[in-house]
Amino acid sequence: MSSSARIPATLIAGDGIGPEIVESAVAVMEALGSPFEWDRQEAGAAAMKAAGDPLPAATLDSIRRTRLALKGPLETPSGGGWRSSNVRLREEFRLFANVRPARTIIPGGRFDNIDLLLIRENLEGLYIGHEHYVQIDDDPHAVAMATGINTRQGCRHILEYAFETAIALGRKKVTVVHKANIMKALTGIFLETAQQMHAERYKDRIAMDTIIVDACAMKLVLNPWQFDTLVTTNLFGDILSDLTAGLVGGLGMAPGANIGADAAIFEAVHGSAPDIAGKGLANPTALLLAAAQMLDHVKHHESANRLRKAIDDTLNVDQVRTGDLGGKAGTREYTQALVARI
Ligand code: NAD
Repeated sequence: MSSSARIPATLIAGDGIGPEIVESAVAVMEALGSPFEWDRQEAGAAAMKAAGDPLPAATLDSIRRTRLALKGPLETPSGGGWRSSNVRLREEFRLFANVRPARTIIPGGRFDNIDLLLIRENLEGLYIGHEHYVQIDDDPHAVAMATGINTRQGCRHILEYAFETAIALGRKKVTVVHKANIMKALTGIFLETAQQMHAERYKDRIAMDTIIVDACAMKLVLNPWQFDTLVTTNLFGDILSDLTAGLVGGLGMAPGANIGADAAIFEAVHGSAPDIAGKGLANPTALLLAAAQMLDHVKHHESANRLRKAIDDTLNVDQVRTGDLGGKAGTREYTQALVARI
């Protein structure tokens, strides 16, 4: 492919195993004839050390320019340190939709033939961070309070994205997950907006049903095949997407896209895995599946499908697997096997 035809995209190696899995993704994407022209930028602990900011201005400028990024995991220190760079990125680029597919890749586990799409609202709800304590007598933490905010506009935005995405992918049903029986306003607005939008715009194009989040969690474990596409508010989506990742082999296999009007950022769901960083043991599959989502996003569906097929064949036909999947391959050997399959 000539360089003029290439699509500029920001590449962030990130922390811990980030550089190892990102290099693997770059090598596999190159073998695939990737359409992306990478603009390498720093973020995370390394950027904090070098530039005093885990999310330097040059990195933000690059994403503003390219509107596309593939990123490795970024460390967030617990209890102090700096604010989560992931949350900052979501806010900066108004990445309102977190799209997490869960598909069985290695058959023979507890759940075969899973093909779920979970779409999570990424900016509102109980994650907005309006929290405080109230002191009573000598206990400064006597009462803890949190405010959640869901707006009609935010609900419409994520629901429209979910309906349109499900229809475009030829999916059969959208399940709206809520807790409107208890949180009548906060998640009632989400349910009510979904029902209105479905009746007005979508009822002839795709089926919709609704379910309370606790029942949804149980049914996902008892019979996940009854679901197709799920759409839900921020906190429920965060929890349920780890559940759906667990159905298909854990976080090492779970990709995520963060979609906004002005940018889209693709990443693995897992973190920087400091326990295995620098040892050549990391499984790059989740990041590679995120790269496949990125190819789909720029409408290079054929390349995305070839990449997913190469992953399937490497894991199942060649049986080349990293340690977290019970195999013996290191990151490099697995990457070479993938490249040979492209
Ligand atoms: P983690 O996901 O990094 O690791 C959990 C366990 O899974 C570890 O045992 C790790 O070795 C293993 N693991 C994770 N990814 C793997 C892979 N690709 N191959 C093989 N094994 C893998 O979770 P954590 O330890 O709770 O978090 C570490 C750091 O990552 C924290 O600073 C956290 O804030 C950050 N984090 C970042 C993101 C992100 O950037 N999107 C997401 C989650 C956590």
